Amino acid sequence: MNYIKEELKCPSCNKKLKVKVYNSFNESKITDIINKDIFKVTCNNCNESFYVDYPFELDTDKYHLFYTPYDNNIEIVKNKINRVCNTFDDLREKILIFEDDLNDIVIEYLKAYVGGSLKDDNIKDIRFDSIIDNRIIFALIGIEQNAGIDKSIYDELLKKAKIKDNIVIDQDNYKDYIKVG
Ligand SMILES: [Zn+2]
Repeated sequence: MNYIKEELKCPSCNKKLKVKVYNSFNESKITDIINKDIFKVTCNNCNESFYVDYPFELDTDKYHLFYTPYDNNIEIVKNKINRVCNTFDDLREKILIFEDDLNDIVIEYLKAYVGGSLKDDNIKDIRFDSIIDNRIIFALIGIEQNAGIDKSIYDELLKKAKIKDNIVIDQDNYKDYIKVG
């Protein structure tokens, strides 16, 4: 886990601070990434805490994620799932999906299916949340509720679908990488 020291000003008291900005993390930091602790800085002068956002790579045994709002030009790591995430919510969701050993392309397909069957304009976004009691749980952003579908539906899809890999998989492009039936 390499880092550089960056100088910035505390937004609260204006004191110059040196903060560690990491360019890579390993799986030991997954919890700290998900709860944004890696971005948290506490000023040693006024004790105020604030968050700094920066790009980094997360490298685990199974997957390699690039968190970067800027570009999709990345170095592919062989024999791992490689993904670029342009927003923090995307990154967080990919981590949860891959930590549960799921395929994110199939998950995007199911998210679209759930959204299409609920037909609720108040739902702004649908995100994978967890697997509970063999059900895949999706968070319905905007109405602050959950929706679940049986994991067996996922398993069946994974078996039947033709899936192609890509470094960017999101709700807009997933259709190009999965063929069902
Ligand atoms: Zn301060």
